[in-house]
Amino acid sequence: MTADGYDDLKLYIHGEWVAGADGTSPVHNPATYEQIGLVPLASKEQVDKALQSAAEAYRTWSRMSPLARGAILKKAAQLIRERADHIKRQLTMEEGKPLHESHYEVYTSADYFDWFAEEGKRAYGRTIPGRNAGSRQTVNREPIGPVAAFAPWNFPAITPTRKIAASLAAGCVCIIKPAEECPSTALAIVRALHDAGLPKGVVNVLFGNPAEISEKLISSPHIRKISFTGSLPVGRLLGRLAADEIKPITLELGGHAPVLVFDDADVDAIIDLSVRSKYRNAGQVCLAPTRFLIQEGIYDKFVSAFVDRTKALNIGNGLNPETDVGPMANQRRLSATSELVEDAISKGAKIRTGGPSERNAGYYWNPTVITDLSPDARLMNEEPFSPIAMLAPFGSMEDALVEANRLPYGLAAYVFTRSHKTAYEVTSNVEVAMFGVNQYSITVAETPFGGIKESGFGSEGGIEGLQGYMVNKYTSEAFM
Ligand code: NAD
Repeated sequence: MTADGYDDLKLYIHGEWVAGADGTSPVHNPATYEQIGLVPLASKEQVDKALQSAAEAYRTWSRMSPLARGAILKKAAQLIRERADHIKRQLTMEEGKPLHESHYEVYTSADYFDWFAEEGKRAYGRTIPGRNAGSRQTVNREPIGPVAAFAPWNFPAITPTRKIAASLAAGCVCIIKPAEECPSTALAIVRALHDAGLPKGVVNVLFGNPAEISEKLISSPHIRKISFTGSLPVGRLLGRLAADEIKPITLELGGHAPVLVFDDADVDAIIDLSVRSKYRNAGQVCLAPTRFLIQEGIYDKFVSAFVDRTKALNIGNGLNPETDVGPMANQRRLSATSELVEDAISKGAKIRTGGPSERNAGYYWNPTVITDLSPDARLMNEEPFSPIAMLAPFGSMEDALVEANRLPYGLAAYVFTRSHKTAYEVTSNVEVAMFGVNQYSITVAETPFGGIKESGFGSEGGIEGLQGYMVNKYTSEAFM
């Protein structure tokens, strides 16, 4: 552990914490630019060792009872909760989000382990009546095999957890490559599994060159399933690699969520909720509300209240308990945000509040509200992944639906209305996989999480999350 409490970073291969044979790469605190650690980089031989270890472990883990597997996952959940204060600090130091958000994320991760521990016991098959007397046909659900999983930096606890908890509960083993920028949180989650008695090889953790590791893992005959969360270009690349190997892949690739606010919505009741949801994790959330489409009758009131509430947010180091919005996670996001905003302004957009930060350290961008956006502004077309709220008026429901469905993303959407009929029309006609009606809170362990269209395919939570790591075994029996 370093002087400021950041954990030493290791690879986790065959149940052991080891240094990277390919050296290290620095990890920075996005609130201060300070180097806080060195992430170990795996060599090709270490990736091979992880693959061998996973293949070996699969033979026993896949045959263990779901009850026994679940007991280890539940113990890990308990340890994560006991260690939450430590883990949430690691998370904030490496990713930047405020401590209260990290707290929520760590507890939610524990929740996923608990839920999948139970759900593993319910991997039911079915019996189909035979056509002939004295015959029976059964379909059993079996684990698909060893999994290669890739997680990004924006939710360093929840994203690796969703992949690990579901795959292990299904009887698979998992080699995970979390983001090199936020390694400590994923290691803390895996440490809880290790201390809970996870047999060696059931989980291996690698860091290194993402392109080299993903190519080696996906092409290995040991790996039977791939799961990736991150950007569309990388998703496309891994999708192609998986297709070459005829291996299924789950892809969660982000979104550009429209929020349809109708005239009958209670503006006073939803502003605080909307602002907090927009700027959660400095907007670096795939489900983040991005395009606020507000019906004309309440547009001015909504904009004015949204701007006032945004101005009242406390911006600062996430370790400060008073902070509402922390820095962005890295220089890439800060540069991208600046480019997106400049592009919007050059096309006539108005900044109602926010903009570049004047702080001299940290990747800060002040929470920003933009109106009068041209439809061809990049912000209205590319996933912003930034603390930027775009507000635009609409007249009829038809206009709002056209705008909501204009982009190729299909992850999440939100609607605010007091009318059942309006909510029904909107939820029936907007092409997304997840909907919030009069709320933004839509993900819990027991519900499916994932997108359609260019937001990806497959689900990570709920019973669907478990099924993503299982295959059918059909048996036809004659009793003679
Ligand atoms: P990026 O494309 O450079 O990387 C995305 C993630 O993929 C990172 O964690 C990276 O380590 C990993 N990665 C990169 N190349 C890889 C490879 N060949 N094999 C395996 N993993 C690889 O993007 P970025 O700069 O980190 O983020 C940019 C955009 O990505 C964001 O604007 C956002 O749209 C999207 N994103 C989405 C999510 C999500 O939750 N869906 C999370 C993070 C980023």
